Amino acid sequence: MTDSEKGMVSDLYEEAHHYHVNVGGETIHAKRLTGRFRTLKWYGSALWLLYFIMPYFRWDGQQAILFDIPERQFHLFALTIWPQDIWMLALVLILLAITLFAVTAVAGRVWCGYFCFQTVWTDWFTWLEEKIEGSPVQRRKLDAAPWNGRKIRLKLFKHTLWLMISIITGVTFAAYFTDVFDLWYRYVSLDAPIEAWVVLAAFIFGTYVFAGFMREQVCFWLCPYARIQSVMVDKDSILPTYDVQRGEPRGKVSGKGSESRGDCIDCHLCVGVCPTGVDIREGMQEGCITCGLCIDACDSIMDRVKRPRGLIHYASEKEMQGEQLPPLFKRPRVISYLAIFFLAVGGIVYGLTHIPPVELSIVHARQPLYIQMSNGDVQNKYTIKALNKTKGDLHFTMTSVGLDGVFIVGNKGDKITLKAGKMVPFHLFLAAKRGVLKNKKTPFQFIFKSVEPPFIRLTYESVFISPRGK
Ligand code: SF4
Ligand code: SF4
Repeated sequence: MTDSEKGMVSDLYEEAHHYHVNVGGETIHAKRLTGRFRTLKWYGSALWLLYFIMPYFRWDGQQAILFDIPERQFHLFALTIWPQDIWMLALVLILLAITLFAVTAVAGRVWCGYFCFQTVWTDWFTWLEEKIEGSPVQRRKLDAAPWNGRKIRLKLFKHTLWLMISIITGVTFAAYFTDVFDLWYRYVSLDAPIEAWVVLAAFIFGTYVFAGFMREQVCFWLCPYARIQSVMVDKDSILPTYDVQRGEPRGKVSGKGSESRGDCIDCHLCVGVCPTGVDIREGMQEGCITCGLCIDACDSIMDRVKRPRGLIHYASEKEMQGEQLPPLFKRPRVISYLAIFFLAVGGIVYGLTHIPPVELSIVHARQPLYIQMSNGDVQNKYTIKALNKTKGDLHFTMTSVGLDGVFIVGNKGDKITLKAGKMVPFHLFLAAKRGVLKNKKTPFQFIFKSVEPPFIRLTYESVFISPRGK
């Protein structure tokens, strides 16, 4: 090692006593370093910017993504999903859950390490903290120092920025349920409905407290995923792993007996950068979110002490025992997850491509089942609900087939107008001439046909009920 490298390593040892394994008693001030996994973490965080900008996208004159609860519609760009199609949402949830299971089985808590809102927001908050209050050592000193003008100024600035992020997070969430520009206007003019204020207050509180104060404690104590992940990983899952064979016995890089030691120079930098305060050298632990930051830290040390990188690296338990990692398609757990994944994807694609533009429901009246007219004719009453899911008005005719001698009373079926995005309920009577129908129940079909493009033809099975032999 050169003199300057020796100096850097000796500085590390100086700093090492500040790095503690997390036992929950103090705030973790993790050191930030650059590296492959740090960059990946930034990319993961960057995806969340979409959360903030998506409400501002417009499509066809309205907000592109909108959960319109009063109208019971979910708008997703050109697509409008109605409560009748909500089964697709269930498939989407299954898809997300199974993706999480599959990824966890392959590479552990990748979601936690790179994408989870809790770790991402905490990362943003601590990044700001570092910009305002300085390095981990300086932050610990500031926390321990008595209150003075400087400390008040720094803390006030930091908490103001944290609160601003929390407010924007809350407003953005509410904006997925109503027009974003109107919402901003109503918040600023203090004219928002009570539900909007409740959502905002909940998000400000949640974001500020969880990301600003509780941080990794949420992962340790509140997150259910951390509890169940152990049943999702197996000996083939690749996780950040400390190479015990190579690293031990750990000890100082130079000095007496250093030549018989392993490659771990016991600098504690892997603990110092860990956002959850885990010492990965003690093996895989519940607190590890598999973010890989300890890999970056250890690689940087190995570079400095001129030893090969990878003392901590992504590896499976089997690999560490010298076995070969089986290919994905030979792992039953991964195959099962992928099978469910593709089934859910197939269901969603089918649903999206087969959403009917008009939803029809026809209910035969029960009280009375039929009406006997004074001239002997029999009439049946039907309640019809037609929902136009498109963005334009539609016109239909309605006829019945399969019932000779039966006709729609009046001109009710001649031209039915369905307003865009509206449900039209109406009643319709069918009449049969005396003696035409021989059975008590006669099945037939209603045909619902559009009179102009888009051409839509819907059939609906129903029955005509009459007194026997009439
Ligand atoms: S594993 Fe690497 S980073 Fe951690 S103490 Fe050892 S040398 Fe330092
Ligand atoms: S031990 Fe390493 S991979 Fe696990 S959370 Fe800490 S820094 Fe991330």
